[in-house]
Amino acid sequence: MLGLEALAKRLPADAAGFPLRVPRGFVARMRHGDPADPLLRQVLPLDLETLEVEGFGLDAVGDAAARSGRGVLQKYQGRALLVATGSCAVHCRYCFRRHYPYGEDSAAANAWQAALDTIGADPSVDEVILSGGDPLSLSTAKLRELGERLLALPQVRRLRIHSRLPVVLPERVDAELLDWLAALPLQKVMVIHANHAREFDESVARALTDLRGAGLTVLNQAVLLRGINDSVEAQVELAEASFAAGALPYYLHQLDRVAGAAHFEVPDADALAIESALRKRLPGYLVPRLVREVAGAASKLPLALTTEM
Ligand SMILES: *Cc1c(COP(=O)(O)O)cnc(C)c1O
Ligand code: SF4
Repeated sequence: MLGLEALAKRLPADAAGFPLRVPRGFVARMRHGDPADPLLRQVLPLDLETLEVEGFGLDAVGDAAARSGRGVLQKYQGRALLVATGSCAVHCRYCFRRHYPYGEDSAAANAWQAALDTIGADPSVDEVILSGGDPLSLSTAKLRELGERLLALPQVRRLRIHSRLPVVLPERVDAELLDWLAALPLQKVMVIHANHAREFDESVARALTDLRGAGLTVLNQAVLLRGINDSVEAQVELAEASFAAGALPYYLHQLDRVAGAAHFEVPDADALAIESALRKRLPGYLVPRLVREVAGAASKLPLALTTEM
């Protein structure tokens, strides 16, 4: 194995608040002994994270300003994002919420009702997005309870779940979860998160097949990451592996400029060149939308537009 315990001993001092965390099954997909392995690099704390880099801050995407109530973020028309929990099964080093004050601001801290009241009071919200943290790190019993409360809001037609768990811990997609989802009378979308083709294996494909069987549309979002997937080849392989496993490419995010993640940033010009090559290499439905989140904008913005600003 990779000797995670040995690695954990040389964590940078700053990692205290965001320690190494990765499920064994994900570790098993890494290439043994390769320090540049693209899966390892996503989760391995490096001293580089402690560098202060201008422009990289604590609230990279304007979450503080978009907060419409405890655990609720509303940035876009018709959609409300519920920070259902602060915990994740994996700690991705580039995570844009790695500094988010979950302890104080997740709806899970027995504040479902306040969060749902906020959503319920807005008749324009027809889609609720469970995010986090990772909402599937909640028990299915908790999710079931939340689902019931959502059903009481007549304007809500769609439930979307943003989760990396079907990828990093596919056994979370168990019979109980599938039964709940299959019976839930809403339109359902699961947006998974994988950045590299090698994150997909048989167990992930089975989980995605099961989710589709339960009536969910499954999409994948990825983050463009230097040294991990910043090549045309890596992106073609990601799109094809994702589709083969049952998830359509959705977004390819330009990195959010969160403190500690500067070493993952890919220059905009390189990102645009990759996107342009992907359009030529792949069928249109396999090309993800290359976007950047700009604080205060009314949607995620195509990168090509933001670079002209
Ligand atoms: C990204 C995001 C969404 C979802 O945006 P889509 O473009 O619909 O995927 C919704 N709410 C918030 C606060 C977000 O950050
Ligand atoms: S799974 Fe998502 S929310 Fe959790 S650490 Fe990774 S990027 Fe952040």
